[in-house]
Amino acid sequence: MALQNKKSLGQNWLKNRDILLDIADLASVDGVSDVVEIGPGLGTLTSALFQFFDKVTAIEIDERLAANLPKSFPGKDLTVINQDILSLDLESLNLPEKYVVAGNIPYYITSPIIQKFLHAEHSPVKIVLLMQKEVAERLVAGPGDYSVLGLSAQIYAKVTAGPVVKREFFTPPPKVDSQVVVFEPLAKPLATERTISLIKLGFTAPRKKLVTNLAVTTHLPKDKIAQLFEAQNISIDARPADLSIEDWCELEKNLKSI
Ligand code: SAM
Repeated sequence: MALQNKKSLGQNWLKNRDILLDIADLASVDGVSDVVEIGPGLGTLTSALFQFFDKVTAIEIDERLAANLPKSFPGKDLTVINQDILSLDLESLNLPEKYVVAGNIPYYITSPIIQKFLHAEHSPVKIVLLMQKEVAERLVAGPGDYSVLGLSAQIYAKVTAGPVVKREFFTPPPKVDSQVVVFEPLAKPLATERTISLIKLGFTAPRKKLVTNLAVTTHLPKDKIAQLFEAQNISIDARPADLSIEDWCELEKNLKSI
């Protein structure tokens, strides 16, 4: 297709059939026939998704691409919606109870896409996204490497890393490598919104000691916070990246007692 790609929309095409089939396979769930694809572009992942799903609802912001896509899938159950994924009202899609989300997503909106689907009232059973490798690493990180991004995803879903896709597989090649991340939303979040607010306060200065950050941001006495850390077996020197989700939940409850 002689269409100029738009860099501002993250248009780096992935055409390797084996990789695309691996991504579609990771997205498949027994008994689930509907997938929402974010940013279908030229339809290469769409084609792989049709190997595992009966119905694809593809959301594409670029009018030219959205208009061309149906021509590549005659006879297939494909609905193309020419809209920004972030402003899309999911309820308007009339999705069945169980559906999956997949996409080789535009990297400039990775975080809002994840938040949109993890917080959706009618959330998908699985979300499989190809994204910048560095972001994928933050999402699946454990103790010592936690971030607000990683914790806020892991509170809502089981998050696992999929295959790495080297930059040279894309046309044009982006500046960084990519990696698949699989999110399986949990029936119930592991922490409350109040705990998430506390995590954000704790990470205001990520490299500094957490006890100092919390004293500054909560205006509570530092020695009292230090006592709570001791009671919870958290090192007084701990950085925000060291605490588990359980630590944060307990801390949120205990801080109320000061
Ligand atoms: N799925 C194709 C592939 O694997 O080759 C294209 C992936 S390309 C990295 C990202 C796609 O997302 C492009 O087609 C781009 O036009 C589309 N896109 C960018 N921003 C978007 C948005 N806000 N909402 C929906 N689609 C968007």
